[in-house]
Amino acid sequence: MHITALAGGVGGARFLRGLLHHLRTVPGEHELTVVGNTADDITLHGLRVCPDLDTVMYTLGGGIHEGQGWGRADEHFTVAEEFAAYGEGPDWFTLGDRDLATHVVRTRLLGQGLTLSQVTARLSERWGLPGLGVRLLPMTDDRVETHVEISDGDALRAVHFQEWWVRLHAAVPARRILALGVENASPAPGVLEAIGTADVVLLPPSNPVVSIGTILGVPGVRDALRGTRAPVVGVSPIVGGAPVRGMADACLQAIGVETSAAAVAGLYADFLAGWLVDTGDAPVGGDSRPVVRARPLLMTDVDATAAIAADALGLAGELAAAPVA
Ligand code: GDP
Ligand code: CA
Repeated sequence: MHITALAGGVGGARFLRGLLHHLRTVPGEHELTVVGNTADDITLHGLRVCPDLDTVMYTLGGGIHEGQGWGRADEHFTVAEEFAAYGEGPDWFTLGDRDLATHVVRTRLLGQGLTLSQVTARLSERWGLPGLGVRLLPMTDDRVETHVEISDGDALRAVHFQEWWVRLHAAVPARRILALGVENASPAPGVLEAIGTADVVLLPPSNPVVSIGTILGVPGVRDALRGTRAPVVGVSPIVGGAPVRGMADACLQAIGVETSAAAVAGLYADFLAGWLVDTGDAPVGGDSRPVVRARPLLMTDVDATAAIAADALGLAGELAAAPVA
């Protein structure tokens, strides 16, 4: 079975870890291609930081800080203290020592002319992803950066997504969320093929605007999802009318979409075949696409997450056998 998943950071990575856990109980060979969001990427201290790719890599490779869901376990901040002593900001985005090594290696390889795909493959080897049957692809090798337009008194100001998210906690309303460069970006090598030739395409419960939304904005990706013969099945990141963690509601508000499982499904309506919602969210729709199933959707631990992934694959299997018009 070849599974292709689009993923952001924490929500995506946790789901994928559960999926791999479940796949260990399923006979046969499985391949998982993860198309990762790169629009959150930022350059800090001259280093290229790819938070979502790294969160997936560390989570699947066993190096993640469990409590936070991002960054490295057993982290130290000696270098960050030195940056602070030099007055070298930003003080709202701290990079740990172990994490810094990833960004140094990435930046050096990019400087040698490797593409982000090639660099990501190299970094993934260290974390054992190929051995797990996982191929992690950036959505694009081109530079795409999400910026957020906010009001600053009477003026409008655009800030990098990370500044809005991490420094401002998305508490300042976003007027617009823009993925700069996305319309001229090309999908990274293998992305369209992975969607087109998959047996199942999964949308983990990642942020529908700044994770899944930016991946869908890369020219060709949406068409590939509409065109694939694989059923596309998604898991709602909205549970009980609110994001489980993070500020996805602030992102949805910026694009004028209600914070509900049904409204998020509406963003994917042109290609979504199946949709898992939480039992607390009223099922929407009848027999038409997407087919909606309700089950508990809190990824409380790996076993609970594996059960969610199993149900997503189960729904995909049903839809592949008897497609719904
Ligand atoms: P980020 O890049 O680190 O923000 O991570 P993602 O975009 O991959 O995922 C963020 C989304 O994951 C948020 O909108 C959360 O609502 C969702 N999420 C986090 N934990 C859970 C969970 O336990 N269950 C579900 N259904 N969604 C979750
Ligand atoms: Ca992210």
